[in-house]
Formats: sequence, C-alpha cells, structure tokens
Amino acid sequence: MCHTVIDGRYHTECGHFINMHSHVQDCLRPNCIFSGRHSHCVGCKSQSCIRLMSLPVKNPIRISPTTCGDCVAIKRTPTALMAATARP
Ligand SMILES: [Zn+2]
Ligand SMILES: [Zn+2]
Ligand SMILES: [Zn+2]
Repeated sequence: MCHTVIDGRYHTECGHFINMHSHVQDCLRPNCIFSGRHSHCVGCKSQSCIRLMSLPVKNPIRISPTTCGDCVAIKRTPTALMAATARP
C-alpha cells in the first residue's frame, strides 16, 4: 500500500528528525484507493480495496551533526526543560 515519505533533516547530536516536506509514494496497485492506478471511482465501496496507508517513512535528505532548533531553545531556557520533563 501507499505510504508517505517525509524528507527532512536528521540531527545526529539529539537524534531528532525535522520534517521539511513530504510526498506520497504510490504503490501502483489497482486495489489501493490512494494509488493513481486505482481502478474504481472516487467513492469506492469495494471490500477488496486497501483503505489504509502504511506508516510514514522518514527520508533524511540532510544530516546535521548538531542539535535541532528545539533542543537548542530548551538548553537556553532551563525552566522550559523542567516543565517538559516534569510528571505530575
Ligand atoms: Zn497504495
Ligand atoms: Zn476501489
Ligand atoms: Zn533535538
């Protein structure tokens, strides 16, 4: 089935992935409602058709050996870090 491919930047320092843009990878199956090859009309009611997308796939097009903007901001403001990690 089709899945979303998310292109983005991977920060090796903190392990975070920042989305830049995404597109749908077509599985080209005629029984998948997300595919351009889907053979039925828009309001497809066929039981055999796939109606779910696979989990998105992250595609790191850029690798940054740094921390991401969010982590830099958290480091600069220790109170924000405490608020984010505090559990009631
Ligand atoms: Zn598909
Ligand atoms: Zn269909
Ligand atoms: Zn980060």
